[in-house]
Amino acid sequence: MSSQQPTFQHALSRLIEIPSVSSTLPDLDMSNLPVINELAAWLEAMGFQCEIQPLPGAPHKANLIATLGSGPGGLVLAGHTDTVPYNDSLWKSSPFALEERDGRFYGLGVCDMKGFFALVMEAVRGYLGTPLTAPLIILATADEESSMNGARALVELGRPKARYAVVGEPTGMRPIHMHKGIMMERIQILGQSGHSSNPALGRNAMETVHKVITDLMQFRAELAERYQNPGFTIPTPTLNLGCIHGGDNPNRICGQCQLDFDIRMLPGMDSEQLRQQIRQRLLPIAEADQVEISLEAITPAIEAFAGPENSDLVAACEKLTGHQAEVAAFATEAPFFSRLGMDTVVLGPGDIDQAHQPDEYLSQERIKPMIAILQSLIRQYCLS
Ligand SMILES: [Zn+2]
Repeated sequence: MSSQQPTFQHALSRLIEIPSVSSTLPDLDMSNLPVINELAAWLEAMGFQCEIQPLPGAPHKANLIATLGSGPGGLVLAGHTDTVPYNDSLWKSSPFALEERDGRFYGLGVCDMKGFFALVMEAVRGYLGTPLTAPLIILATADEESSMNGARALVELGRPKARYAVVGEPTGMRPIHMHKGIMMERIQILGQSGHSSNPALGRNAMETVHKVITDLMQFRAELAERYQNPGFTIPTPTLNLGCIHGGDNPNRICGQCQLDFDIRMLPGMDSEQLRQQIRQRLLPIAEADQVEISLEAITPAIEAFAGPENSDLVAACEKLTGHQAEVAAFATEAPFFSRLGMDTVVLGPGDIDQAHQPDEYLSQERIKPMIAILQSLIRQYCLS
């Protein structure tokens, strides 16, 4: 069956059946290759040229670039093949068996977002006999939910290149043209422990972290003054002090302390620049307290996303959906596709409220309208 073109429901059901959890916890992390292989077999049967690209250093994870037609320009329809982990006991039905009830399809990844590929294939089916004037590329990535390493590998590779990209994340069928970025960082302070009866016997890392926190809060205020974007509910960048670990005993000078924080960047802010700025600010504190202070990323940053001003694709999606483009409160792979030079919009059939939840579902009433939107985009960017 897998080498033939599946029906919509068969494709959806197979995509849900094949587990593809990605997680930063190694015990929960799975390969996405079975999903990629199945998709590639279907798309090849539809006439696409399929390239399966294992991620550097992770041969059990891969991206798929499936191309129909050739030449410059064209449209990418993109999604991730992985899902978040699940709590089996909280589901009414199996997360890995597509279940149809109350006008909904239930299953892990049906909304976020393996289901999108079934819709894309259904949309494309109508045009298989028609020669395309610009390529149509279906892009399936790995590890969006854990590290975004699939999208990072594509940026390294400089592919795919197209004029436009639509990322089918759950946006309730409203186009998203901006979201904040996120960086998660760790500061480590190495002082010197000693007997608490004489402060001169050590260098107290906890006293240094006090200064570091004061400085980060000052930095946050400066960032909020420098960067504002009224498009966001929280119009400034944020910096959250998230967790702190240090010391062991009240009668011991604290020798080590660690502080984790995040920054949610607005479009126009760059994670590496921010990291350098913070490092500069930490230098005088380290010198004054005679301690070592380091700052490293806990996970690689996801930059903020903003499509181009006067985006042709945003205008097209606004017209097709009847909704003005909005901003999202969650991060996606869109900034990576933007960096590849594509005019990018996030637009998909699911609702973010159902993502990462037990009993994840996709309303059946969304399916036909979303397929119609995808077909309009294909006609507009690959057939005219
Ligand atoms: Zn997603």
